[in-house]
Amino acid sequence: MNKKEVFEQVSDMEEQIGQLYQQLGDLKNHMSELLEENHRLSLENHHLRNRLDHEIANEQAGDGEDANGEVSIGEGYDNLARLYEEGFHICNVHFGSPRQDEDCLFCLLFLNKTK
Ligand SMILES: [Zn+2]
Repeated sequence: MNKKEVFEQVSDMEEQIGQLYQQLGDLKNHMSELLEENHRLSLENHHLRNRLDHEIANEQAGDGEDANGEVSIGEGYDNLARLYEEGFHICNVHFGSPRQDEDCLFCLLFLNKTK
């Protein structure tokens, strides 16, 4: 191997290392995005579970409270409408999953039906 070949190999390696380093940086960014999303989804899941538990508890406790029925339907509607605005499905097809900026026909039907 002559000097020129050695020099070329070293500079090839240098370039490859540079590319790997950049890929590593990209992966790190991607990973932190995923971690953030995971965290956000965990929170939302926790939130939704709490809400579901509440609603089940209310439903079980609320048999004799027909007078308050309309108020809680209104509140429930507001909560669901807000959840929808925040970007989550409220339809029973995809309930609780992110909408990814698209309107969902099932959710809209459900909102109109509940209003
Ligand atoms: Zn939906």
